[in-house]
Amino acid sequence: ALRADGIEQAFGDVEVLSGVDLTVERGEVAAVVGPNGSGKSTLLRVLAGLDGAAGGDVAVPSGAGGARRVGFLPQQPAFREGFTARDTLEFYASLLPGVGSNAVAATLGRVGLADVGDRAVGSLSGGMTRLLGLGQAVLGDPAVLLLDEPGSGLDPAMVERLFAVVGDLAAEGTGVVVASHELPAVEAHADTVYVLDDGGFVASGAPATLLDETDTASLSEAFLRLV
Ligand code: ATP
Ligand code: MG
Repeated sequence: ALRADGIEQAFGDVEVLSGVDLTVERGEVAAVVGPNGSGKSTLLRVLAGLDGAAGGDVAVPSGAGGARRVGFLPQQPAFREGFTARDTLEFYASLLPGVGSNAVAATLGRVGLADVGDRAVGSLSGGMTRLLGLGQAVLGDPAVLLLDEPGSGLDPAMVERLFAVVGDLAAEGTGVVVASHELPAVEAHADTVYVLDDGGFVASGAPATLLDETDTASLSEAFLRLV
């Protein structure tokens, strides 16, 4: 569903990404983990097409019927507090060709916000606000979903709820890239984990492989260093 080759990114003379390759298949959940400042958000913004990269290529095959190709949940999503949850998605839907009110209702249900659709965003809890951000990201039924720290600041039950929705979307064929510090959720829900450090992936593999003490020590160390 997504293919990135040799992604490079720099801010001024600070090189943040120095040749990152990533392929995510339909239905695959790829988690990007790494220390603060390692470049996870920088990578996701390039994959989302929000920032031009200093080098490399990103390819996302177009979805069926002109569907939006990429959905993105930023690390710090911002909403109009006076809008209701439904207004928020209605407004966003109006910006997406071919996405109507039926998609808004379905999306509210999908992320578990059907009961609070008429509440002002400013009155929602942090977890509900994050679920609304997830709703916004999936509204156009994207082929690829990019989630930047979707679980940060949420209690474990809400993290689990959010990752469960992500798992459902993947089961329907969406390719997912999720940057996350929630290692238990990553272990439970990711198919592949990529450890980002020093400008590139220093380890990758199935979560169980990365945590397996019998596996190459450096891979486990790179992952465990983050715990
Ligand atoms: P976190 O886990 O804290 O979210 P991260 O892995 O997402 O961190 P990034 O936000 O991608 O890290 O930042 C990577 C590096 O790039 C940091 O050194 C950061 O200061 C720098 N950086 C990111 N965006 C910019 C920008 N717009 N201008 C200058 N430097 C930036
Ligand atoms: Mg980040």
